[in-house]
Parts: sequence; C-alpha cells; structure tokens
Amino acid sequence: MTLSPVCTVGTELAARLHAAREELVRRWLDRIVARVAIDPNRVFPTDELLNHVPLLIDGIASYLEDPAEELDADTVVAKARELGALRHEQGFGPHEILKEHEILGAIILAFIEETVEELTPPCPPRELAACLRRLIQAVEQIRQATANHFLHLSAAQVQDRENRLRRFNRMVSHELKNRVSAIRGAGSLLGEDWITPDERRRLQRVVSENAEGLQQLLENLEALSRLDTDARHQRNLLLPSAAAEAVRQLRDQALARGVVVRIADGLPAVEVNAAAVELCLVNLLSNAIKYSDRAKPERWVEVTGDFHPRRADGTGGELVVRVRDNGIGVPAEARGKLFEQFYRAHDGTVTGVEGSGLGLSIVRETVESLGGRVWTEFPEGGGSVFAIALPSRREDDAAAAGVTRVS
Ligand code: ADP
Repeated sequence: MTLSPVCTVGTELAARLHAAREELVRRWLDRIVARVAIDPNRVFPTDELLNHVPLLIDGIASYLEDPAEELDADTVVAKARELGALRHEQGFGPHEILKEHEILGAIILAFIEETVEELTPPCPPRELAACLRRLIQAVEQIRQATANHFLHLSAAQVQDRENRLRRFNRMVSHELKNRVSAIRGAGSLLGEDWITPDERRRLQRVVSENAEGLQQLLENLEALSRLDTDARHQRNLLLPSAAAEAVRQLRDQALARGVVVRIADGLPAVEVNAAAVELCLVNLLSNAIKYSDRAKPERWVEVTGDFHPRRADGTGGELVVRVRDNGIGVPAEARGKLFEQFYRAHDGTVTGVEGSGLGLSIVRETVESLGGRVWTEFPEGGGSVFAIALPSRREDDAAAAGVTRVS
C-alpha cells in the first residue's frame, strides 16, 4: 500500500519531528552513553558529527512528509556513512552499531506514539500504519548505510593486515634464505686446502656477519611474536621502563663503539605496548650506534618523548618518541627510502657496519600495525632523528586510573 500524495498525518508528524529533533538527539545520546563506557563528548567528537544526527532526523521527517521522495542520498545516506566511519575509528563492534540504530528507531517510534495521541482530529489507522511503515523503512535505510560502510572499512582493514603479513613473510624468508646460503657457501669453501689466508679471513667474516644478521632477524621475529595488537592481551609497561630495557639490551654494542646512550629526563610516564616499543627502540638505538660518526670525539644518542593529549575535537592523542643521534646522517637523496625493505643508504660508503636494510621496515610495520606513524628529521647541525608516534585510544579510562595508556 502506498500513501496518497497528500497525507495529513505524515505532514503533521514530520513537522513535529522537525521541531523535536534536538530533544530526540539528546535522548539518543543519553541512551548511547549509558550503554558504552565512553566520554559523552566523544560519542560525537566534533560539532560537525554532532550536527549529523539532527540531519538524520530531518531526513526521516522529510521522507515521512513526502511519500513520493526517496531518502536523500547526498545528505542523509552520506551522513549515515560518515557515522559508520566514526564508529569504525572509535573501535565499536558491529553489534554496537546495530544497537545504536535500534535505539534511534525506538526513540522516534516512542515520540510518534506520544504525538499521535495529541493529534486532532485523531488520525485514521490506515494512514498511521502507512506512516509507521515509512518511518521504519527510513530508519532501516540509515542503519544499513552506517553498518555497510562500517563493514566495508572493517573488511579493508583485515585485507590490509593480511597483505602486510604476506609481505612480511616473503621478506623474512628471502632474508633467511640469503643469509643461510651465504653461510653455506663460505662454510664449504673454508674446507678447501687451496684457500689463501686472506681469502680465508674474508670467508670467516662472511660467516660471522651473516650469522649476526640471522641473529638480529631472529631477535626481531621473537619480539614480533610477543607483540599483541589486541589491547586485552598486551604486556604494558611505562615508557621510561621500556626505554631503559632497550638501552640495557644495547649496552655492550654502545660500549664497543664508544657511543653514550641517554634517556631524556621527564620521559612521559605513559603505558605502552612493551614488546612493540622495545622492538622499535632496540632497532632505532642500534642503528644510531652503528651509524655513529667515528670522526666525532663525543658520540651520543638520546631518546626523548612527548605526550600530546587528545584535543577537544577528538583528534590527536598520541605519544611521540624520538631517537636522536649526532651520527653520520643520511644523504638527502636517500632520505625518502629509509623505511623501505632492504634499502641501505650507506651501502658501499661506510665500512664495518653490518645490516640487511630490514630493521627500519620492521619498525614501520610494527608502528603502523598499531595505527601509528614513523618519520625522520634531519637537524641543521647534522645527525639524524627517527621518530615514532603511537595513538592513544584509551586516554579516558586511563585518566580515571591516574595513568595514561597508549596502544
Ligand atoms: P640496516 O640493517 O642496514 O641498518 P635499517 O633498515 O635498520 O637497515 O636501516 C636502513 C638504512 O638506513 C641503513 O642501512 C642506513 O643507511 C640508514 N640509517 C638507519 N639509521 C640510521 C642512523 N641513525 N643514522 C644514519 N643512517 C641510518
């Protein structure tokens, strides 16, 4: 059954819905906040997003008012999709999205129930039934637009993780194969009688350098296997302790190269995913030690950290850790490629520094898998800065507990 083009009940209910939209949004917000443990200001962290909800209600009202019209795709459906993107970013589950829209439907229906009683003259049951059907259709379309977009983003995220994992597996097996075949080749030649002493020394170096590379890779793999992106299973540690642990692991390497490793005073006492941060710091500090400048009388590397709380508009909220050294730096033309797999900026130009060009790509994979970023800075005075930023998702809970947590 379709509504006649002029439906007085529809027009009347639409007018009342338009007028009551702020009150309905408030009721919806109250119900959502009561369900999910989230700061009321973060349910819709920006004014723009908060403005979406009255627009959704306006869209439903207009749909009721004019039975010939479809739900407006450019405004209502687009806003519903943006809501799906927001909930995805906030880490909501699909069930919570469906529930949120069920609540919206229930609030609007309850409002219609109250309103219908007040209508004079009373509205004919057939018209009311048709209006309710249209109302349910509108809420359902909004719910589908939000949920479909949410599911689309979730599927893309899973796909992205799978691709990363595949890339990473390829990279590790390539590296293991190369190292093992270098050791086997050098090892079998070392057994030959005709090898000159010089050649023997070179082959021994090949074996030990590749064994060292294998060890470094295995240590990274071990650290990666401890890394759990699921917040419930993470081993968390305060940043100063994670940094101290990384420095401890590299003490001998730093001593051997005469590099002083410092942790800046006042490193923020925020909780971090211990395995991830240690893995990143060990790689970055080890590089800063390896690529220190032998010509400098004082060689140093320093770890600093800044915590940027989430801004009122819901953006930001991250921990930035920088590893700064006064080492040899990186030539300008190589700087853009440092985080690529197997890329080495000083291959052939710096002797006695063993590496595979994998450390920084592992750091990038690790940080990005936690939703963070990596970058470099090259100060005027020379040296390098390698920085990582990790998002803070649970500041609100943490503030209550007196600690700040970072994923
Ligand atoms: P590698 O095993 O070669 O050290 P990485 O992926 O850790 O591999 O680093 C890639 C390249 O980036 C290095 O080969 C080096 O050229 C450059 N690099 C990394 N860290 C530093 C640093 N602190 N100072 C100068 N160059 C660096």
